[in-house]
Amino acid sequence: MYDVIVVGARCAGSPTAMLLARKGYRTLVVDQTLFPKDTISTHIIWQTGTASLKRWGLLERVATSNCPLISKVTFDFGDFALKGLAPAPDGVTECYAPRRTVLDKILVDAAVEAGAELRERFTLEEVLTENGQVVGIRGHSQGGSAIVEKARLVVGADGAHSVVARSVGAAMFNARPALTCWYYSYWSGVTLDGAQLYSRPQRAIGGPPTNDGLVLVAAGWTNKEFHHFRSNIEANFFKTLELAPEYSERVRAGKREEHFRGTADIPNFFRKRHGPGWVLVGDAAYHKDPITARDISDAFRDAELVSEAIDRSFTGRQPLEQSLDAYEQRRNQEVSAMYDFTCDFATLAPPTEETRLLLTTISKDREETNRYLGTIAGTVSIPEFFAPENVQRILSKGAAA
Ligand SMILES: Cc1cc2nc3c(=O)[nH]c(=O)nc-3n(C[C@H](O)[C@H](O)[C@H](O)COP(=O)(O)OP(=O)(O)OC[C@H]3O[C@@H](n4cnc5c(N)ncnc54)[C@H](O)[C@@H]3O)c2cc1C
Repeated sequence: MYDVIVVGARCAGSPTAMLLARKGYRTLVVDQTLFPKDTISTHIIWQTGTASLKRWGLLERVATSNCPLISKVTFDFGDFALKGLAPAPDGVTECYAPRRTVLDKILVDAAVEAGAELRERFTLEEVLTENGQVVGIRGHSQGGSAIVEKARLVVGADGAHSVVARSVGAAMFNARPALTCWYYSYWSGVTLDGAQLYSRPQRAIGGPPTNDGLVLVAAGWTNKEFHHFRSNIEANFFKTLELAPEYSERVRAGKREEHFRGTADIPNFFRKRHGPGWVLVGDAAYHKDPITARDISDAFRDAELVSEAIDRSFTGRQPLEQSLDAYEQRRNQEVSAMYDFTCDFATLAPPTEETRLLLTTISKDREETNRYLGTIAGTVSIPEFFAPENVQRILSKGAAA
């Protein structure tokens, strides 16, 4: 009998297992994958996420994985660009984009080092329930027969199509249709000035430098155009890059080292996060378009908050339902503005006249540019930044300058 079984061992699951094991809980983490293994995802980690890695003592492992530091972010809107770096209130200015083969392996290893038991190539079939309460899992290892394991609590960290969520019937709410689709690959021989991102009508382009001298280059289209994009990926990809000619030239001068990866499976939703004997973290609990690259950092935050909530209950300080409810309320409140902001961005619609005026004004002011970038990184409050008084203050400051 375990204290906790965590299903899924990537950005949400491994840190949850690590933090619980560090607190002394008997923790089992299972995943159908054998790590290191890639997944469909690009990999910018903004300062909110790197701050978590630093608190856990893992940032150094990313920094020394031959992954370049990102010290500048450019958001280019065609006739103007925002260039800077989000402020870092807790002093962690670093921003990285490690390959998922690198990051997820660091996270899995850290969970095991902390004392969690890892079972790779283990597929969850369903959660076990007794009298309406989840009491464990049933699954199988590769080619093996059914295995049952029991725990006081099962954590679903098994991604957007979570089997845990489906087994317990976790209700979905505030769902919105998929907005974007993406193809990306990796190039050598391309020099970038930090992470370069380009917003064009109905298109998003760009990416960060990553491990081993490679640069990730991605092209985003509206979701409804996926079949067209897929019909000739390479031609459509390069046609998209041409909307940012200087960037396109740099990429064309380099060499594509890997195949194109792509997806249109990008739902936007919240799920009920907990119930008797179960709780959800990461994409299983809350999924949104990757255009703001906030999801790895969000998964880390879930891991920290859920492990504290579980500890509060298991040490007798608060009933489990209350502590998980507090976790759910807090997370839904923390992410709601970002969800709207992201869904808005992901329409790939050109900025309205008001937004264009605000962004061009911001682009001439380094401090405000950094604060705007902080809304994306999660270090500046979106409601505060876009409050009418603050927008007015920025516009007046711009006019005076
Ligand atoms: C195109 C794209 C680009 C992105 N770019 C970024 C970015 O730049 N920055 C960023 O922060 N985020 C980005 N994201 C989002 C990010 O990839 C996810 O938010 C993140 O991977 C979520 O982590 P997770 O651990 O919750 O889920 P996942 O990464 O989905 O991991 C779930 C794990 O559960 C396991 N699992 C699932 N079902 C079972 C089962 N039945 N039995 C056993 N194991 C199971 C899977 O094998 C997997 O390892 C991007 C996403 C996409 C699609």
